[in-house]
Amino acid sequence: MTRLRTFEISPGGSLWYDSQKYRCEAFVTVDADEGRERTWAIFESRCPVCFRPFIVATVIGGEFKPNRRCQKHKAPGRPVFPKRRRKA
Ligand SMILES: [Zn+2]
Repeated sequence: MTRLRTFEISPGGSLWYDSQKYRCEAFVTVDADEGRERTWAIFESRCPVCFRPFIVATVIGGEFKPNRRCQKHKAPGRPVFPKRRRKA
């Protein structure tokens, strides 16, 4: 899986994930529990169903598994681009 790290993305940069573009808007550092800070990358992408922009946030250093669709069209586990089976 793609691991997202600070040196791979910066605000203003873009990332491609399975043919879908994610544009990094900002980094946000959040004071989590007991002084432990976590930095989130805020991405804007477009819903492949309605083409409206939506925002996703991913923790830096974690796994990059962003939402693919907007809140209205989200369907976890259902691939956006289903793999077609080839006939032998
Ligand atoms: Zn949508």
